[in-house]
Amino acid sequence: MDETFSYCSMPPVAPRELPAGMDPARVEAIVVNESKWVNHTVLHYYFFDRETDGEHVFLADGTRQWRPWTTDKAHQDVVRSAFDHWKAQGIGLEFVEVTSRDEAEIRVGFMEGDGAWSYLGRQILDRGANERTMNFGWDLLRTPREADTALHEIGHTLGLPHEHQNPNAGIVWDEEKVYTSLGGPPNNWPRSKTQWNILRKIEPDTVQGSNWDPDSIMHYPFQAGLILEPERFRTQPLRPAGGLSARDLSWVRAFYPGEEEQELPELLPFQSRELAILPGQQRDFVLRPTATRQYTLQTFGASDTVMVLFERAEGELRYQAGDDDSGEDRNATLQLKLFQGREYVLRVRLYFSQGSGETAVMMW
Ligand SMILES: [Zn+2]
Repeated sequence: MDETFSYCSMPPVAPRELPAGMDPARVEAIVVNESKWVNHTVLHYYFFDRETDGEHVFLADGTRQWRPWTTDKAHQDVVRSAFDHWKAQGIGLEFVEVTSRDEAEIRVGFMEGDGAWSYLGRQILDRGANERTMNFGWDLLRTPREADTALHEIGHTLGLPHEHQNPNAGIVWDEEKVYTSLGGPPNNWPRSKTQWNILRKIEPDTVQGSNWDPDSIMHYPFQAGLILEPERFRTQPLRPAGGLSARDLSWVRAFYPGEEEQELPELLPFQSRELAILPGQQRDFVLRPTATRQYTLQTFGASDTVMVLFERAEGELRYQAGDDDSGEDRNATLQLKLFQGREYVLRVRLYFSQGSGETAVMMW
C-alpha cells in the first residue's frame, strides 16, 4: 500500500502588484528580499495559552466542535527544539520565547485538523496580535520525524518557500493523480489548496538557487507515481533525507550571517554615510543621540531599501520602527523621537540600486 503523508499548507496570499515595465532586475531583487528579515532581528515566539484561544469548526453532521489552539509542554518542546536547532546553525537571527502575545512576532497554535502552516517571512507582521502566524494541526509527537515539520514551518517564517515548487526542479506532475491523492485522507484538500501548495510553480527568483534540492527541509515527500519527471519517481517515492540540507544551510547563512561586527560605525546627525553594499547585503550603524528630540532617518539614492531601527534595552535590541520603500519612487524614512543617553541600532538592507555606491543614509 502507498504511504501517505500529511502536508504543510501555506495560507494563500495575493502576490504583490509591481508597476508594469519595471526593470526585471529590480523586480527580481524585490521578490527575493521582501520576505526576509533584516539580519540580527530578534524574533519573539509565543504559544497560545488562554482557554478562549481556539475556534469552532462545523462537522459534516452539522454539529459544532471547539478546537483549542493551546497544547501541552511536550508538544511545545518540539517547536522550541526546532527554534534552537535553527539557531545552532550559526545564523544571525535570535529566537526568544515570550509569554505575551503582544510582544511576539511569531504566534504558534496547535489547532487540530487545521494543517501545518506558516506565513512567509515578514508577512507574519500583517497578522493581528490574536491571530496565529503558524499552526501545527497534527500530533508532533507521533513520530520523531515530526521534528522536521517544526523545522519546515520555521523555515517559512525565515522566508523560505517550498522547494518542490521550484520551477528549476523540472518536476512534471501527474496532476490528476496529485489532486486525487491530496483530496483523500489524511489531507482532504480541495483542488485549490493542492494547486497553491504543490502544483503552482513559484517565481524563479524566490527559490534558493538554480538547482533543485530534493533533500531541502522545504521539500515534501511524495509517494511513487505522483511525479512523472524525473522518471525514477514514477516507481519510487521521493523522500527527503530529513533535517536541514547543505543548501538550506548555505542559503540561510547567506541571508542571515551569524557574525556581527564588534563595534558598529556610528551614524552622527547631519552626516551622510555611504552604504557601499551589494543587493541583499546589509549595513548596520549605532546611534547615540546627544539630544532628546524628533529625528528623521532616511536613505538616499535611486535604490530599494528596508531600514529598521532597534533600541538597546535590558541587553536586548527591541524593534522601534521600520520602513520598506521597495518598488516605490521614494526613499525609506523613519521619523521618531530618540532619547539622549540611549543607544539605538539602525539596520539597512539593500534590495537594489540603479548604480553601485550611490546609496547613502543620513539622520537629522
Ligand atoms: Zn510548507
